[in-house]
Amino acid sequence: MLKRLQDDFYLAMLTLVGAMIVLCITPYGIYRLYTGNYIVGIADLVMVLCAIIATRMAWRSGDTVKPGLFMALVFCAGAVLVCINLGIDGLFWVYPFLVFIFFLVSPLKAFVLLIVMLACLLLFANLQPGLVFASRFQMVSFVVTTTITSIFAFIFAYRTQLQRRELKRLATTDSLTGAANRRTLNDQLAVAINEHQRFGRPYGLILLDLDHFKQINDNYGHNAGDQVLAGLIPLLQSMLRQSDQVFRFGGEEFVVLLADIKPADLAKLAEKVRQGVAQHLTTPDGSHLTTSIGAAMLQPDEDWEAWLHRADMALYRAKHEGRNRVVTG
Ligand code: GH3
Ligand code: MG
Ligand code: MG
Repeated sequence: MLKRLQDDFYLAMLTLVGAMIVLCITPYGIYRLYTGNYIVGIADLVMVLCAIIATRMAWRSGDTVKPGLFMALVFCAGAVLVCINLGIDGLFWVYPFLVFIFFLVSPLKAFVLLIVMLACLLLFANLQPGLVFASRFQMVSFVVTTTITSIFAFIFAYRTQLQRRELKRLATTDSLTGAANRRTLNDQLAVAINEHQRFGRPYGLILLDLDHFKQINDNYGHNAGDQVLAGLIPLLQSMLRQSDQVFRFGGEEFVVLLADIKPADLAKLAEKVRQGVAQHLTTPDGSHLTTSIGAAMLQPDEDWEAWLHRADMALYRAKHEGRNRVVTG
């Protein structure tokens, strides 16, 4: 549970907001019901109930987008209702809401929702003067302060989102080739094992290692070697399906993870990749490179270490049998 909270920022925020709502709004809801203000009391308790439902949905499905939007929409409606009923007492609740809505949905969605919510509130306030604000001056102050708060919250949330995306990209991809890195490979192999065991989904794996790559560095320099590695990824992707994933395993070794593939198709695809590399991957002076490939289907009851090891053994044989060939493990 703690690991899920650590790994998934939006799930952690949704849970935090849900817990805050339950702890902070429940006593108010009960108090309002007790003092006979049934509309606000019920609105408060409906918000609490929705917070519990949305948090539960997010934990169960792993999807935080829909529950976050659901919670944000309920709170927008709830905030308008509470302000109309309580007047100035309700307005104070708008300020924390202006901030925490940015933890529930993407910054742009949150900003649009806030504008709609504030516009609805102003519309009601203008239809019935004295209902929400005590004076025009108070209304103008409210509009100015909520707008300033929303803009700063938006900027902060937007910048945080960009930084979080960039951090994720840096942590999951290899900077030279742009392929997913070994850490991502470990995660995706674990996902594959899980799906294979639970739903019987077939998976294949291709492990490829460029032949005599050290000579490329020795003959043309390390930079030229880097360019060859970077050029290999688009070449591989042009031969693969969109759902196939390419990972840099280390050095000039790459892994391709293929879901929903039959053993015969895996062998065919590995051969296509071998031929594609031999035909299109070239050194700066135009001479061709080759690759050796080990391929392996995931077997029932196999863990990912054993699966990768079989592909590695097949690659080892491909090297020993003369390179530029495919061996299926
Ligand atoms: P073979 O695999 O056919 O046995 O021979 P090889 O020369 O390719 O041997 P090996 O796989 O052991 O060597 C890999 C070489 O790849 C060694 C290292 O200099 C080079 N290499 C590894 N990572 C990088 C990199 O990021 N950039 C460049 N330019 N070279 C790299
Ligand atoms: Mg090599
Ligand atoms: Mg190697």
